Amino acid sequence: MDFHCHLDLYPRAKEVYREATQRNDFTWLVTTSPKAFAATSRALPASPSVLISPGLHPEIAHERAPELDLLLEQMAGVKAVGEVGLDGSPRFRTHYEVQRRIFRAVIKRSVELGGRTLSIHSRRAVKDVLADLDACPGYGTAVLHWFSGNQAELRAAIAHGCWFSIGPALFESENGRRLAGAMPHDQVVPESDGPFAKVGGRPVMPWSAPETAQCLSEVWNLPVRVTADMLASNGANLRKTTEI
Ligand SMILES: [Zn+2]
Repeated sequence: MDFHCHLDLYPRAKEVYREATQRNDFTWLVTTSPKAFAATSRALPASPSVLISPGLHPEIAHERAPELDLLLEQMAGVKAVGEVGLDGSPRFRTHYEVQRRIFRAVIKRSVELGGRTLSIHSRRAVKDVLADLDACPGYGTAVLHWFSGNQAELRAAIAHGCWFSIGPALFESENGRRLAGAMPHDQVVPESDGPFAKVGGRPVMPWSAPETAQCLSEVWNLPVRVTADMLASNGANLRKTTEI
């Protein structure tokens, strides 16, 4: 399983796609813009095990802001949305207001549509992400991807009821390992975030869930097998409750 993957952006995406459909029960392909969602949905064959969702990545929010209406339109025909969110790091902070306007519009639209499952980017913006979600009850389900806040922000996200999708790259930092160690055992699902996320200089692949289970078992102090089973049942549970 992979709950956050930019599969369309790997070199030789079609081969990666084919292999993912063979190796994974479920792959959530998040796109970075509404136009990319339309192009990817056309380019890749439909598969019952691959969920392709429209998004508008905060890092390119300022360039793709004119596509917001298209995103809001596309949201009517899908159960999941992503990648969306906020990025408050120095490089993207300049366009924070645009990011926020887009993110709030997406959440509001999710409420109108009766709820959506969102794959959310929250780098250096956890507080604002949670505030925007809190302001709109009924938006659906939040899956915070590659969570990188502090322990207090993690506790706030847990209290909000967020899920967490994490992959092998999270464990490269000490903070990441500590956060993973403190995540609720029943609210974590695997992700790759490939090809952006890399380990040892190589992009993480969509079938990296066993590596995530291995890393997680060390910080949870559980056997690898038990951890892998937990991730699998969490994934099944998230999919069942959100109908994705
Ligand atoms: Zn991503």
